[in-house]
Amino acid sequence: MAAKLQAVRGMNDLLPGETEYWQKLEADVADVLASYGYRQIRTPVVEKTELFKRSIGEVTDIVEKEMYTFEDRNGDSLTLRPEGTASTVRAGLQHGLFHNQVQRLWYAGPMFRHERPQKGRYRQFHQIGVEAFGMAGPEADAEIILLSARIWQRMGLKNLRLELNSLGTPQSRALYRDRLVAYYNAHASQLDEDSQRRLRSNPLRILDSKNPAMQALNAGAPSLHDYLDEESRAHFAALRAHLDAAGVAYTVNPRLVRGLDYYTKTVFEWMTDDLGAQGTVCAGGRYDGLVEQLGGRATPACGFGMGLERLVLLLMNQNPAPDHHVPDIYLVWHGAGAAQAAMQVAEESRNAGFRVLFDGNGGSFKSQFKRADKSGARFALVLGEQELQDDKVVVKDLTRGEQNTVARDKYIQTLSAQAGANQ
Ligand code: ATP
Ligand code: MG
Repeated sequence: MAAKLQAVRGMNDLLPGETEYWQKLEADVADVLASYGYRQIRTPVVEKTELFKRSIGEVTDIVEKEMYTFEDRNGDSLTLRPEGTASTVRAGLQHGLFHNQVQRLWYAGPMFRHERPQKGRYRQFHQIGVEAFGMAGPEADAEIILLSARIWQRMGLKNLRLELNSLGTPQSRALYRDRLVAYYNAHASQLDEDSQRRLRSNPLRILDSKNPAMQALNAGAPSLHDYLDEESRAHFAALRAHLDAAGVAYTVNPRLVRGLDYYTKTVFEWMTDDLGAQGTVCAGGRYDGLVEQLGGRATPACGFGMGLERLVLLLMNQNPAPDHHVPDIYLVWHGAGAAQAAMQVAEESRNAGFRVLFDGNGGSFKSQFKRADKSGARFALVLGEQELQDDKVVVKDLTRGEQNTVARDKYIQTLSAQAGANQ
């Protein structure tokens, strides 16, 4: 027998029961984004591989070992996008969105990384991301952080904490990098294999190690903050003042570095302890050099990406079930000609704004009422041969058991009155 067909490892189907959470999350986020003037951009899922190499950085985990890269039939190297910022910048450049303009953009969709699948970490996952272009001041950093805080509030999410850091300018970071290399070289025997590799390629990333054995060594490393340039210091202080004034709590974590090379000045992460090891639900920062790096004129920018799988897990943990589209009315019918009349009644009820489930299989009243109860509907509308003959409909309140036979042109009124009276 042929092997059972299965989805690709690390790539999930989302079934009814879960999709309602996704829809709620997406609707809440879209609403909040609109209230800050952000507008959606949609880009292809596939880009030229070069785009990610040039933006994310050649010696990052993503580019080194996580990308889904393949040759198409023309022999071009293409990659399934592992994140959304590079594509957004590419599209903005291609369509002239940046020069002398402020753009507030957001995107949503699947991202692809070949990682080890586990709870909160998948090979296809989804992000909603926000990118603000053309604003150099700390107000833009503050705005996207306030916006994210408002999203959590809107979703009713608790136990999220904000960590902040400043990575400074490329110049101040270069200085720090030298000190860091000296420090790790002096403790070379304590470096794990990954860190030894990073020491040569990208030493700042050692600080981001998830290996507990590296923690003590990292704790003793020189602090980036001692090497920050004056402008980055002032920017960071102003951002903190904005957050303080808005009442957004945070902790400064001088060891917070991000997995992508393009960040400058501000970086931040929203984290929770409720999801185990995969605790970061949203991460971002400022990337003033990226537009220029990809061939445009220097354009200040900042943004973040949030991981929807992790947010949905949190939402499921913390919140009672959202509206699962329970029908208001279940349509029961029986006998010759009743199906057609019942279908008409169903359409009329939908015109009046009710959610209606039409019994698709008919059969005995008994089996249909069983299905009606199971559906969770508050009311059943019943059409049998007798009702058809008398031009009537039975309105049955399934939660209270009471029922009334009413004229075909009156049942909407009856339903509305009963629905309004005993909510
Ligand atoms: P991590 O440190 O958890 O690997 P990251 O730094 O690689 O995260 P980003 O590239 O900043 O993550 O992506 C932003 C957010 O997208 C993360 O905070 C997380 O919520 C989510 N995310 C990233 N990778 C995955 C994945 N493989 N599966 C599910 N969600 C992910
Ligand atoms: Mg990662």
